Amino acid sequence: MKKYNFNAGPSILPREVIEQTAQACLDFNGIGLSLMEISHRSKDFQPVMDEAQQLMKELLDVPAGYSVIFLGGGASLQFCMVPYNFLEKKAAYLNTGTWAKKALKEAKLFGDTIEVASSADKNYNYIPKGFEIPSDVDYFHFTSNNTIFGTEIRKDFDAPVPVIADMSSDILSRPIDVSKYAMIYGGAQKNLSMAGVTFVIVKDDALGKVSRNIPTMLDYRTHIEKGSMFNTPPCVPIYSALMNLRWIKAQGGVKEMDRRASERAEILYAEIDRNKLFRGTVETEDRSRMNICFVMNDDYKELEAEFAAFATSLGMVGIKGHRSVGGFRASCYNAMSKEGVEALVACMKEFEKKH
Ligand SMILES: *Cc1c(COP(=O)(O)O)cnc(C)c1O
Repeated sequence: MKKYNFNAGPSILPREVIEQTAQACLDFNGIGLSLMEISHRSKDFQPVMDEAQQLMKELLDVPAGYSVIFLGGGASLQFCMVPYNFLEKKAAYLNTGTWAKKALKEAKLFGDTIEVASSADKNYNYIPKGFEIPSDVDYFHFTSNNTIFGTEIRKDFDAPVPVIADMSSDILSRPIDVSKYAMIYGGAQKNLSMAGVTFVIVKDDALGKVSRNIPTMLDYRTHIEKGSMFNTPPCVPIYSALMNLRWIKAQGGVKEMDRRASERAEILYAEIDRNKLFRGTVETEDRSRMNICFVMNDDYKELEAEFAAFATSLGMVGIKGHRSVGGFRASCYNAMSKEGVEALVACMKEFEKKH
């Protein structure tokens, strides 16, 4: 039976990206050695790093004056590296859910923080509006896509201060105006690659403005100066990122990813809104295209486990909702096909007929 992978992360990748990575682990470039057992400084690996950085810049239209680096530690390490490198006195954070809150928690270790707005009052089912970004802070931080609660901010803020965004779960799903950011970062395992690598896009002249000493490994400038090779980078995840970046380019780039994301989301939300058994959990205007959250309607709550089992029996994988929302979450990252979403919709329609 065909399986449709709706996992939230690590998550779906194009089949060919997985096959190419597997092949490189067996025999890289026909050199008779595995990608896992060669030096990151070898003439075979250096072009992988170079092209991965270059393609990130090309696909996201990154302006001159920005660097792309690939680090370890996940997006979670960035929660502390960001304030380490950018927070001198005070920083502003938008609290839209679990990850945003974790980022804010780390910033508090380094200085004063302002929570500019929060949607905690409604279990993060909307994006706060009408808040002001203060002009007396070192930076403003937000999470563009809230993987757990299924809300998304698809706009680039015009702010009086440097803007830093966690784009772990919607990077490369749409064009962004990178020039409006001092930094964009994310764990790769949602929309870019397998787990094990973190991407950072940072404006070079936004760095070096804090007075504290920064440990070498946690200083972005170290990694920029060394071409993301200060220490051994996660070679296999970077290779799979490169294969995925090539795939995205061949499909038509982020514009095409954007079109597909809207198409998938429209199909699935339309069924959630139509089907009497289900309802969405998020304010309509703030719905994420990447993580689509829904629950059983109140009259059908007792059918939740039955629907989960039914969907699983038809090949749907990973649609169980996060424990803080409950119900279901269908993650529809770049590699998810329209066919996959249609299969889930068919399964929802069939379940409705049975009840
Ligand atoms: C998954 C996720 C993280 C955490 O990423 P790790 O790489 O596991 O540290 C942070 N932010 C967002 C938005 C995420 O989806």
